[in-house]
Amino acid sequence: MTSNFGKDWKPQTALVHAGTLRSQFGETSEALYLTQGFLYDSAEAAEARFKGEEPGFIYSRYANPTVDMFEKRMCALEGAEDARATASGMAAVSAALLCSLKAGDHVVAARALFGSCRWVVETLMPRYGIETTLVDGKSLAAWEEAIRPNTKLFFLESPTNPTLEVCDIAGIGRLADGAGARLVVDNVFATPLLQKPLELGAHVVVYSATKHIDGQGRCLGGVVLSDKEWIDQNLHDYFRHTGPSLSPFNAWTLLKGLETLPLRVRQQSQSAARVADYLAEHPKIGRVIYPGRKDHPQADIVARQMTGGSTLVCFDLKGGKSSSFAFENALSIIGISNNLGDAKSLVTHPTTTTHKNLTDEARAEAGIGEGTLRLSLGLEDVEDLLKDIEQALEAA
Ligand SMILES: *Cc1c(COP(=O)(O)O)cnc(C)c1O
Repeated sequence: MTSNFGKDWKPQTALVHAGTLRSQFGETSEALYLTQGFLYDSAEAAEARFKGEEPGFIYSRYANPTVDMFEKRMCALEGAEDARATASGMAAVSAALLCSLKAGDHVVAARALFGSCRWVVETLMPRYGIETTLVDGKSLAAWEEAIRPNTKLFFLESPTNPTLEVCDIAGIGRLADGAGARLVVDNVFATPLLQKPLELGAHVVVYSATKHIDGQGRCLGGVVLSDKEWIDQNLHDYFRHTGPSLSPFNAWTLLKGLETLPLRVRQQSQSAARVADYLAEHPKIGRVIYPGRKDHPQADIVARQMTGGSTLVCFDLKGGKSSSFAFENALSIIGISNNLGDAKSLVTHPTTTTHKNLTDEARAEAGIGEGTLRLSLGLEDVEDLLKDIEQALEAA
């Protein structure tokens, strides 16, 4: 079996070739090793593999060749030393957060988190004696004030869901370093192509591969990336013994997704920028938030830390909930869904779906109103999408 890895490859090359383990049959496409376990040539070989004296696979909860290809390709893209692929994005987030923490530790997290991430921080962690403080992630002063002697971890998402606000990853990374804490960044909304948290000063990056990495609405997956030392000392044992492993079939699907990720993210971001500009001029629209626009509330940070806007647009309909619902129901190409990053354009009304469990105050604080909609741009022709949006706005 041969492995392929070019250190100086650009992302588009790495995403087609990096990490490929080609078998003796010379297959062009990555092989799918749909197996739970592996055979050993002898009892001595089994002993040597368990002792770690001989390389090779033992059990697919620990590692699997197809999953290994996906992890290596993600490392090449992210510029990370090591990675573990997980069964979902939430398995990646919870493993990344919990693997190094114990009772008595303190975590500071940005308040604007994906709903399930917020539940892990706000509800699950305190049950195990981990103290948590939620802050306004946009304010460096808020992060600094929240630091305690036992602060071990910082956690944020940027751009945030659904309002696409941006946190200063470099600034927050410096505060984490000063406090002896590790900064974990959920980079789903930026995608691995538009923002590189590890280069900016984060210590751990997590993805829901369910979103842009699969990109075609097929399977769940996730990945945690960091330096080898941290993974060896923290994630390695946690991952093996709690079992959030990615299935080989899903890893194979995600590998094929990575091949086309740059093409899709480029096209979807271009469409998002066009749609954001169109919406900004429309009389029925209040606010438009798009990280690629000059009027984005953190446009200066976007310019420093991102290489493109995003594949999503957030906007408010002036008419509130009834207008938003009329708009959604009048759409014919764009689908109503809580998902994002898909080849199909999808729209979400966060107040009544993804963010319905937040209190009214928490939603107001996060800038989510009754008229707020989040739009994830797909791969359809942007002219068709604009026509669909235009006719739905007439109905709104
Ligand atoms: C979807 C998502 C997750 C969770 O991923 P799953 O694959 O659904 O478990 C976590 N964080 C963000 C920002 C997400 O968009």
